[in-house]
Amino acid sequence: MSLQVLQEIPARPAAGTAKGAAAGSAAGARAAEPLCHVNPDWLNIESVVENDLCTQCGACAAMCPHKTIELVRDEHYRYFPQVRDESLCVERCKSLCVQVCAGVQEDPSLWEQNPIVAETYDEYCGSAITDTWIGYSTDPQIRARGTSGGLITGLLVYLLESGQIDGVLLVGANKQDPMHHDISIARTREEIEDSWGSKYYPMPMGARFRELVSATERFAVVLLGCHMRSLRLMERKLPRLEMSIVLRIGLICGYCAGFKAIADQARDWEIELEKNKRIDYREGKWPGNVRIQTEDQDRRTLIYNFLTRIPFTTNYRCTICSDLMNETADVVVGDAWLKELTDRKDEGWSVIAVRNPAVTPLIESAIRDGALYLERADTETFVRSQEKPMRYKKHALVTRLKFARRVMGRTLPNIDLSRFPDGFPTNFWNRLGNRLFMLTQWTFALNDPLRRAMYRFVPRKGVQWWVRSIFLMIAHDGKGSFLSKWLLKKEPMLNCDA
Ligand SMILES: Cc1cc2nc3c(=O)[nH]c(=O)nc-3n(C[C@H](O)[C@H](O)[C@H](O)COP(=O)(O)OP(=O)(O)OC[C@H]3O[C@@H](n4cnc5c(N)ncnc54)[C@H](O)[C@@H]3O)c2cc1C
Repeated sequence: MSLQVLQEIPARPAAGTAKGAAAGSAAGARAAEPLCHVNPDWLNIESVVENDLCTQCGACAAMCPHKTIELVRDEHYRYFPQVRDESLCVERCKSLCVQVCAGVQEDPSLWEQNPIVAETYDEYCGSAITDTWIGYSTDPQIRARGTSGGLITGLLVYLLESGQIDGVLLVGANKQDPMHHDISIARTREEIEDSWGSKYYPMPMGARFRELVSATERFAVVLLGCHMRSLRLMERKLPRLEMSIVLRIGLICGYCAGFKAIADQARDWEIELEKNKRIDYREGKWPGNVRIQTEDQDRRTLIYNFLTRIPFTTNYRCTICSDLMNETADVVVGDAWLKELTDRKDEGWSVIAVRNPAVTPLIESAIRDGALYLERADTETFVRSQEKPMRYKKHALVTRLKFARRVMGRTLPNIDLSRFPDGFPTNFWNRLGNRLFMLTQWTFALNDPLRRAMYRFVPRKGVQWWVRSIFLMIAHDGKGSFLSKWLLKKEPMLNCDA
């Protein structure tokens, strides 16, 4: 495969007058930089939004020294930064917001392994790991309520109560208005417990990063991969931020459905979303249900059914994300999607892998004091637990980037493709499935009337057949006949329907 084609793409000048003018001079000089897909001299974060590269993490708002960036929710329920006074950027700023933007800067120095060759492929998929366990919180209530094993909530409660942290940045439901969420620094057991559960859309967690700078307190954070990379970039600018965070818990992120997936689900159930009292994504026994409650309605569907909405509602930037396993976190946590565990049909199991050995004693103390039940596992088990999303986010990365650039004419982030000299083990079906996924996203995600018409006029079984076919193609490992797997329907669509 030729990576060269992508590497030669010159930097694109930012759209807009002030931005274009300010960026213009230096951009010409830097256009020849081989691995740069976007203009390194973008003036401010609005150029990132215009080019559809914003991950909605919100770190730009926290980084801005002039406090001129605000996060505004658009008609698709996405939180995008808006610059209130651009003159401050023109006159007084060094584009700090763009410098900490993980949507643009896939900075190779954030990753440790270079270059990645076939022999280190598993390690590359999982990224650098020192210890891996599978297990759950020993508190039965936390485990039952938690997304998978309640491991994150159990660990955080333990660290707080044993005085090893003073607070944690996390996101919980807003009890007054379930259309919104509370991003807070929790300092009590109740606040941590109230934030349980995955919300399958990007949250502007980064907007609160600056509040974690402290001379006296020690914090933990729970973040998606995009948040985590922004945090790492921001820590380089604010060393005291790095010092006050003692534990960075990263969530594995295979797919981000976006809040509009829940809006579509509510519409299908004829629920007025504004009247809802509570939204849950993984309620009940593992793997859990999406559940929406109002005064007079209480509807739920298994998470797998809900996830078929992903290609229709996810964001463009998520479709070219390369960070499945939260590669810059101290520890990464996800569902232990292992057939031997899902077959048990008991309460959930989480997988946890340590990247930063300095935090291993925190996990070991939680095991020793009985807060967590964890069994040792190896890297192969960790990678196997995410087998199918790997073929989407890792194997097909170059296919996706090329498709985005050549067919969709999109701007790409600065991904250093020279890290992958051996290429990736893909096959015809995997590549086709990934392209169809992106085409589906492109056609439907921002076209609400078309998407709603599709849900209204195409039989539900037809929509599910389409998505199942796409996911099966993506998941195809090249072994055996794809057509027989597709026709016999024995292969799980996603990891989780094993
Ligand atoms: C968008 C998204 C995609 C995911 N994709 C995968 C996947 O493909 N494969 C996989 O194995 N696991 C995935 N996960 C992780 C998985 O859903 C569980 O979060 C994980 O297994 C931990 O479960 P737990 O029971 O230990 O955590 P819990 O005890 O339930 O705690 C979950 C924690 O996550 C935090 N949180 C929830 N939503 C968000 C959010 N949007 N942004 C930041 N923090 C949040 C909460 O504040 C809470 O502290 C994803 C999570 C999210 C949010």
